Amino acid sequence: MSTSAAPPRVLTVAGSDSGGGAGVQADLKTMLALGVHGMSVLTAVTAQNSLGVQGAWELPVEAVRAQYRSVVDDIGVQAVKTGMLASAELVEAVAELISGTDAPAVVDPVGVSKHGDPLLAASALDSVRTQLLPAATVATPNLDEVAQLTGVRVQSEDDLRRAAAAVLEFGPRWVLIKGGHLAGDAVDLLTDGTEEHVLRAPRHDNRHTHGTGCTLASAIACGLARGRSVPEAVVAAKQYVTGAIAAGFALGAGIGPVDHGW
Ligand code: PLP
Repeated sequence: MSTSAAPPRVLTVAGSDSGGGAGVQADLKTMLALGVHGMSVLTAVTAQNSLGVQGAWELPVEAVRAQYRSVVDDIGVQAVKTGMLASAELVEAVAELISGTDAPAVVDPVGVSKHGDPLLAASALDSVRTQLLPAATVATPNLDEVAQLTGVRVQSEDDLRRAAAAVLEFGPRWVLIKGGHLAGDAVDLLTDGTEEHVLRAPRHDNRHTHGTGCTLASAIACGLARGRSVPEAVVAAKQYVTGAIAAGFALGAGIGPVDHGW
């Protein structure tokens, strides 16, 4: 029997979406689609479907630490992605874990689901600002998260620059501001404070977009695990998520998921 070479390894630290559209499930599907070995540290379990989040339970900090150590100390990781972290305690523990790991970290500072359900306690925002964001290679906030974290309310493309500067103050190496909720083309701004990349994609008139943010952040982590630069990884990830949104499909009575296998 022959042994194949191991693919790059990527770890998601995030919450479970029982409906399979977002969270850890979206992350692992993205990793499979992009040819890396996906691994997961569960931070919380949600009872969730196309209509919203019906319940959420966070895991004990020791359970999160133990999963992380099991994966990193034996298997090793070439990139880490973080998503739903639920509480200040978990944010602080995960910030410490990723700071001590020699791999790039993509931090999706998940605050609220598309249905408006809170996925992060308000009391955790300060820990996100002061501990999690400084540990990020790339932070990927959407406009609601930017407003929550910095107070900057983005209404135009010009505001994206102010928002990016405000997030960079917290210390991530790069920030990708996702302007998808603005009218017109889906415009995102990627910057490290020196270089700037404006990423534009035509808007798809598809309401089935559940899991978009998780998918984008995971796809970026996959690119970084392959040794791509941050701008290269982000451009490829945006292409992947644009296809996944275009192929998003109806499930249940509400908002369906993006399609990871398009
Ligand atoms: N549920 C979980 C567990 C998540 O991690 C996320 C996003 O990161 C969501 C739900 C929200 O997904 P969406 O905003 O695409 O509905």
